[in-house]
Amino acid sequence: MKVYKFGGTSVGSPDRFRTLIGLINDGELKIVVLSAMAGTTNALVEISEFFAEGRREEAGKKCELLRKEYHRVASELFTSTTWAEQAHDLIDEHFNYINTLFTREFSRHNEKRILARGELISTALLHFLMVETGIPSLLLPALNFMRIDKDGEPDYFYIRENLRRELSAVTDEKIIITQGFICRNVFGETDNLRRGGSDYSATIIGAAIGADEVQIWTDISGLHNNDPRYVENTRVIRSLSYAEAAELAFFGAKILHPSSVNPARMKNIPVRLKNTMEPSDEGTLITSASEYVDYKAVAAKDGITALRIHSDRMLLAYGFMRNIFEVFEAFKTPIDMITTSEVSVSLTIEDPAHLEDIIRSLSSIGAVEVERNQTIICIVGDFRPDRVGSAPEIFEALNHLPVKMISYGGSENSVSILINTSDKTEALRSLSDKLFA
Ligand code: ADP
Ligand code: ASP
Ligand code: MG
Repeated sequence: MKVYKFGGTSVGSPDRFRTLIGLINDGELKIVVLSAMAGTTNALVEISEFFAEGRREEAGKKCELLRKEYHRVASELFTSTTWAEQAHDLIDEHFNYINTLFTREFSRHNEKRILARGELISTALLHFLMVETGIPSLLLPALNFMRIDKDGEPDYFYIRENLRRELSAVTDEKIIITQGFICRNVFGETDNLRRGGSDYSATIIGAAIGADEVQIWTDISGLHNNDPRYVENTRVIRSLSYAEAAELAFFGAKILHPSSVNPARMKNIPVRLKNTMEPSDEGTLITSASEYVDYKAVAAKDGITALRIHSDRMLLAYGFMRNIFEVFEAFKTPIDMITTSEVSVSLTIEDPAHLEDIIRSLSSIGAVEVERNQTIICIVGDFRPDRVGSAPEIFEALNHLPVKMISYGGSENSVSILINTSDKTEALRSLSDKLFA
């Protein structure tokens, strides 16, 4: 069985819904994982922010605008009044539910319930449309099987067992539709797999059922060698190893959720990235096979904070690193990059939630300097230890910009470089010219 995931743009309009049905209706049994319609989750985030700030009137207004937009889509989508009415009722049910939440206290739990509406509506609309078109399909609620554990990691045992039970009820339907992004947490509450999480849902499902392939359908023909939002003339990469794809996803290639490669890698399931608008394009295939070339791709991750801890007591001392790491462990804050010298350690974090506490704790170890608005540029290529030459093209490309940190040798697939976010676009363009021209 294959798993197909369609992102927001693939269900961005009534026409796109119809195109999607054409792509999945080939008589083969498959699970279709769907995101919310393009723009919906952003709108729901905005609504939740108004709600969180006590601006309930604005939250309500924004909510009504979104409701109207959905009614417009439903009116265009269905030809029969029966299914159009069902769709209008479903839309009202979800938006009325959001309105009842506004009468309660704001909480993170209520926010998650609001965010879940996007995927719940898009999957129901696709299901109605398929029934109207006469294509047998089954709507499988993700909240019946998708669950994360206390650390926010997929609970594979629970997912496998529950998915197996749900799938055993499938009879004639060839197409099983489910929601991406949403899940339950360890308390059984509605939660999600973080922004862009539908990719992750698809590979988790793929791993749980031992799928033949996971296909991620989006608005671009595969993973490109640089970020097309900032650089012109980027080129598609036809094949990538899991390790390479995971690094690019983690370091900012938005086409894939940062964690989405891991489940596929775990079970050796091929992942194919395809374009809904150009279905004949083969896209990018991600497998365990590695094909070494000096430079394959570049990605960038913003929102990074750098910390530099300096202490003369570090010289020839032992135990310093442990003391530093313990601080980050205590505040459950992962470290992305790290470089050291005899008397100082520089490292980066993405999550600044506990930054003040971390700085306070580190101050007892040494002097702490903090730099915000940093970006990690990740260059994926062949950086195996026997590579001859230290990738001079990278440093030539960046020699007109301040480079804050370099991480070389930690990974066989990549080099990471820290720069100011204000230099990001220039760095990406210059790297494209030097590495891929
Ligand atoms: P979806 O809604 O289908 O999940 P996303 O917007 O999350 O789509 O991901 C697709 C987008 O990722 C593309 O439109 C492109 O702008 C962006 N992107 C960023 N880096 C890359 C890259 N290296 N290769 C391809 N697309 C990329
Ligand atoms: N709808 C969710 C988001 O916008 C999940 C996804 O699109 O993958 O983040
Ligand atoms: Mg996405």
